[in-house]
Amino acid sequence: MNYRHAFHAGNFADVVKHALLARLVEYLKLKPKAFRILDTHAGIGRYDLAGDESNRTGERRSGIDRVVDSSVWDDPLLRPYRLAVEAVRERHGADSYPGSPLVARALMRPQDRLSAYELHPTDAEMLHDEFAGDHQVRVIHLDGWLALGAHLPPKEKRGIVLIDPPFEEVGEHERIVERVVAAAKRWPGGTYAVWYPIKQRERRHALLSGFRDSGLRNIATAELLREPVGADERLVGTGFLVVNPPWTFVPEAERLLNLLRPLLETDRSGSTSVEMLVPE
Ligand code: SAM
Repeated sequence: MNYRHAFHAGNFADVVKHALLARLVEYLKLKPKAFRILDTHAGIGRYDLAGDESNRTGERRSGIDRVVDSSVWDDPLLRPYRLAVEAVRERHGADSYPGSPLVARALMRPQDRLSAYELHPTDAEMLHDEFAGDHQVRVIHLDGWLALGAHLPPKEKRGIVLIDPPFEEVGEHERIVERVVAAAKRWPGGTYAVWYPIKQRERRHALLSGFRDSGLRNIATAELLREPVGADERLVGTGFLVVNPPWTFVPEAERLLNLLRPLLETDRSGSTSVEMLVPE
């Protein structure tokens, strides 16, 4: 487990992922009934963008910094994400940035619950401290892939499973498809959101064709490339695949990515695409 999210927090991929996650949570709030969010690869929850790791990469500068400095920050589609960013900044200072569990938590109502899984012992402890005393959140030091089996279904009928692994292991793409298929059988009411990196064409293709051939219905994808895919291993784009998206997801994601692209792209060479990979 070498991956440390602190090096990348607040980068362009985090902005897109967290803004789309926030839209999914907002949709669930249209009905009063409680929902559950399961975050299978939760990270440490809160990141210090003035810290050593963040300073070494400087990725925040081509991510969240560009967004908060622009008029796009006032757009109503970004309001829930903005709320989460501002909540953490108010409490912890202007260089703080919320990871996915804090984005979800900032938008939850008193009846909603979050289960956050993190396998790295130090990260799990930090996440635990972040939510100490919060009875709406359970932080669990556990393999998130196991949680997808053992902890589904929750008692709530609706909710979101966010799957955001580090993609550092061989076979991770195949594993995601298998696990999501099994999880969707256990909890059909869940919306499954999978983040994926876009570096090279082949791996992205393997993941998407795996989902296309999985037998699951109703799958949408939203992708933002800040530059065209090249031959090397650089992260050029960010993908978000959603099984059982709400009907609002595709139109909102299209508009959101079009708002963000001019801010996040490199030398005007970016692109976006939002589509139904598998129809209902
Ligand atoms: N979701 C977080 C966010 O958006 O703020 C970022 C998560 S980061 C990309 C991936 C995290 O998964 C790392 O903190 C890593 O320690 C953790 N991790 C790696 N393998 C895991 C596993 N099998 N189960 C749970 N967590 C794992």
